[in-house]
Amino acid sequence: MTGTVYKSTGSWYTVKTTLGASYQCRIKGKFRLKGIKSTNPIAVGDVVDFELETKNDEVTGVIESIHDRENYIVRKSVNLSKQTHIIAANIDQVFLLITIDNPPTFTSFIDRFLVTAQAYDVKTVLLFNKVDSYYGDTLDEVKYLAHVYRKIGYECIGISAKTGKNIDKVKALMKDKVSMFAGHSGVGKSTLVNVIEPTLDLKTKEISNQHMQGQHTTTFAEMFDLSFGAKIIDTPGIKGFGVVDMDREEVGDYFPEFFALKQDCKFNNCIHIDEPKCAVKDALENGDIAYSRYRSYIQILEGEDENYRTDNWDN
Ligand code: GDP
Ligand code: ZN
Repeated sequence: MTGTVYKSTGSWYTVKTTLGASYQCRIKGKFRLKGIKSTNPIAVGDVVDFELETKNDEVTGVIESIHDRENYIVRKSVNLSKQTHIIAANIDQVFLLITIDNPPTFTSFIDRFLVTAQAYDVKTVLLFNKVDSYYGDTLDEVKYLAHVYRKIGYECIGISAKTGKNIDKVKALMKDKVSMFAGHSGVGKSTLVNVIEPTLDLKTKEISNQHMQGQHTTTFAEMFDLSFGAKIIDTPGIKGFGVVDMDREEVGDYFPEFFALKQDCKFNNCIHIDEPKCAVKDALENGDIAYSRYRSYIQILEGEDENYRTDNWDN
């Protein structure tokens, strides 16, 4: 039988078939995944093949194999073990919730998030939440940011989880897909999920994170079927993605507007800092590339991401 992993608690996996039947499964004896060294061989979102077993009138499953993943996101433990934990697999899209204030979402955070998602090959949609509360400068800011990110290919939607504005658009995008929600604490993730599916009680509420530090075992993701044919993966206490290891030369490839210009740089290994005839720097000078994007790029290259590394997971 084939099914999707909805939940994992270490040794047992809840696997649901397309017909909707759920089975508690464990992993076959020496099952190990090729390629990735992680604390968990199978994650929420994985598609697996399993056999049923009956013992003392109880039917359980034994997972025999796992299908190739479209993508997956990991958490690297910040403690000594440096072990990788796969949080979720086969994610169609992540909705990044952004607020201009209460709390502010800085472009450095947005850009690092987008780079990581791009590296993971996970599509991101930007949701500017709390549009009901913006006027004057904050309204200008949200319009400007939406313009910056639309221009480079990201879908941007101004929403209000409070008034319901554009929630129908979000639901339409979610239909028949597996989605995740991310963003700083306080941007409105729980409120949004609540208006999307009022009967669902999610753990998106931030758990007391100090307690979670270093204990990745508490960060269990779970998948939920929504009433309108959407699936969401809930990951408690997570506002962003883990950090992907990247080479300096690779970072620019995850900035779509830089990547599009790379072939016009004089040097094919140009990292767009002080090389001559750099198409990216030219575009920056004539205003085709947003200064905030270039600044984020430099910050990532300079490895000013130590704060981000911990911040990312534990705030
Ligand atoms: P989370 O930490 O991301 O799950 O954020 P919450 O859903 O708990 O929301 C944080 C605060 O923002 C709450 O007081 C919400 O009522 C408020 N909030 C959420 N969405 C909106 C919105 O669209 N407009 C306004 N004005 N407030 C909102
Ligand atoms: Zn260049």
